[in-house]
Amino acid sequence: MIDLRSDTVTKPTEEMRRASYEAEVGDDVYGEDPTVRKLEEKAAEILGKEAALFVTSGTQGNQIAVLTHCRPGNEILLESESHIFYYESGAVAALAGVQTRTIKGINGRMNPDEVLAAIRGEDQHFPETGLICIENTHNRAGGAVVPVSNMQKIFEHASSHSIPVHVDGARLFNAAVSANCSVKDFTQYCDTVQICLSKGLGAPVGSLLAGSEDFIKKARKWRKRLGGGLRQVGIIAAPGLVSLTKMTERLSEDHENAAYLAHALKDIKGLSIVNSVDTNIVVVEVANFGCTADQFVSALKEEGVLAVTFGPTLVRFTTHYDVTKENIKKAIDSIEVVARKLGNEQGKENK
Ligand SMILES: *Cc1c(COP(=O)(O)O)cnc(C)c1O
Repeated sequence: MIDLRSDTVTKPTEEMRRASYEAEVGDDVYGEDPTVRKLEEKAAEILGKEAALFVTSGTQGNQIAVLTHCRPGNEILLESESHIFYYESGAVAALAGVQTRTIKGINGRMNPDEVLAAIRGEDQHFPETGLICIENTHNRAGGAVVPVSNMQKIFEHASSHSIPVHVDGARLFNAAVSANCSVKDFTQYCDTVQICLSKGLGAPVGSLLAGSEDFIKKARKWRKRLGGGLRQVGIIAAPGLVSLTKMTERLSEDHENAAYLAHALKDIKGLSIVNSVDTNIVVVEVANFGCTADQFVSALKEEGVLAVTFGPTLVRFTTHYDVTKENIKKAIDSIEVVARKLGNEQGKENK
C-alpha cells in the first residue's frame, strides 16, 4: 500500500526511537522532565516567542489557545473552512463557550479588510471579539501558504483593537519551506502559535503551543484542567526534538513529490486539480467520472493506493517522508488505471 491519506501516517525514524529510549525523564507536572523542557525551550526559540508548552495534539493546542485567550460569550473570527471551525468537533463552543464568526478566504487567506470590518464595536448588544485565528498552511485550501504580508495586515488590524491573533500552524514549517523564509517571518505577526510535530515532521505524538511567558503560564493550567499534564513525558518529547531540529528542511522533498504528482495527474483525462499545490497536498475533483469521492477512494485502494475524501467529489493526496518518488510514480500508474476504469464505465452508461 502507498499511503497518501495524510502526513500523520509516518512512523517514527530510528533516530526518534533511539531518542525515546535514551531520553532523560522526570515528572513533568513537577516540572522535572529535562527533555520536554529542552523541547519547549527549543520551540520557543525557533518560533520567536518567550515560552512554549508541549501538548498532546494540534487540537489540544488550538483549544488551549482559545480557552486561554477568550472568555465565554466572546466571538472569535476565523476562516470558514479552518480546522478549528471545521474539524475540531465543535470544541470551541463546547469547551470555551465562544461563538464563531467565519470569514470566507481565498486560498485560505482572509481579506484583512473583511477581518477589520468583522471586529465588534462597543455596543452592549454585541459579543466581544476575543480572538482572530489564522491557519497556515491552510489544510482545506489544499496546503496553501498564507503569505507573510497577509498575516501582517491582519495582525496590525487586530493589534490596533487589542485583539490577540492565534496561528494554527499545524503545517507552518511547510509554509516556511515553500515561501523560502523562516517560521519567525510568519510568527512575528501573531501572539500565539500552535505547531504539530506529528504531521510532516514525523514525530509519533505531540504539538507545541508558543506565546508570551504569561500566556504559557495560563495555558499550562488549562492543559492540566483538560487532563493534559503528563509525567515522564520526555519519552514522547525526545522524538519531537529530532523533528524540530532535523526534519524541517527535508519538507522540500515532500513538496517536490506533490508537485510531481500534480504534474502527472493534470494529464489524466477527467481529473482536475483544484488547489494551488504550494506544499505537500494535492486535491483532485472526480465528478467527471460520475462517481463520488468515496467510490474513487475505494477503487484506488484496490489498486494499492490510499487517499482520503475531501468533499462529496474531492479526493486529497498528501506526501510525506514515508513515500518516495518511486512510490509516487507507482501511485500515478494506479490512479491512471482507476481513471481509465471509471471513465470506461461512464462511457458505457452514456451510450
Ligand atoms: C491536523 C491539524 C490540526 C490538528 O492536529 P491533531 O494533532 O490531529 O489534533 C490542527 N490544524 C490543522 C490545520 C491541521 O491540519
